[in-house]
Amino acid sequence: MKMRPFFYEQGRKPNEPEGGYWWIEIGVPWHTIHDNETIRHELTRHALGVWDWMKNRDPLMKDRCRNYALEFIGQVPGKRESRRVMGLHLLNENELQKREAFFDECAYGGWFIDLHSPGGLLAPTSEPDSAVDYDSSLKEVALKFIGPYGIPLRALLSKDVVNLGMAGRNISVTHAALGTVRVMGTCGVMGQAVGTAAALAVVRGEDMAWVGQHEAKTLQQHLLRSGCFFAASPQ
Ligand SMILES: Cc1cc2nc3c(=O)[nH]c(=O)nc-3n(C[C@H](O)[C@H](O)[C@H](O)COP(=O)(O)OP(=O)(O)OC[C@H]3O[C@@H](n4cnc5c(N)ncnc54)[C@H](O)[C@@H]3O)c2cc1C
Repeated sequence: MKMRPFFYEQGRKPNEPEGGYWWIEIGVPWHTIHDNETIRHELTRHALGVWDWMKNRDPLMKDRCRNYALEFIGQVPGKRESRRVMGLHLLNENELQKREAFFDECAYGGWFIDLHSPGGLLAPTSEPDSAVDYDSSLKEVALKFIGPYGIPLRALLSKDVVNLGMAGRNISVTHAALGTVRVMGTCGVMGQAVGTAAALAVVRGEDMAWVGQHEAKTLQQHLLRSGCFFAASPQ
């Protein structure tokens, strides 16, 4: 049972047979872009090892897993973080923690600053907050719970390529700020915002940066009418 601390004390709890295995992740020493195939093979090996632990060894899980069989292991490695494009504004975690009011707010987020340990399964612990069950009475955990905060259109527009819009984990943010903006719901509302900005730019015969600078309120009104929400209520 030497493996038990690896899972139960180092933040990798297999609580349910059906899900919650976000900690099956690796990164360094491999390069997330150039070593994609190696990472895929490594992750497959680790997934099989975790499954073996749950199915055959873990005293808390093996009985619950007795009627489960492994059907498939995904073979497209997901990325939490890779390249980001420098935008007209580089959004940082301090602005998000302070819930800064941006004149060109076009989307919002609110997930906590969810930073994962480099190395993942190879690191001594997974995300340290997970090892302490996200206990918000601990200052270092509480500091990461933030939002709702606004996202400015400028962080979704490239500073060097005219009219190149971003939505998702490639936007113009610091590493720590990406820890909160990268979640799927937030990526989705960014997509709606930048798409609406593009449509407005076409109507006005201008580029998206012009829309952000001169028609931020019009953009916000379009987004509000299509059901969007803003963290810092636009006037
Ligand atoms: C293991 C893991 C668990 C996660 N868990 C959660 C969770 O529980 N909840 C949550 O909200 N978020 C979660 N996330 C984060 C979230 O899934 C991602 O941050 C989000 O999906 C990023 O969306 P995206 O559109 O920016 O990028 P992606 O979803 O990576 O989409 C980029 C797309 O571009 C395609 N592409 C790349 N290059 C090219 C090219 N040259 N030509 C054409 N297409 C190309 C890719 O194939 C891909 O489909 C998780 C991420 C990971 C890795």
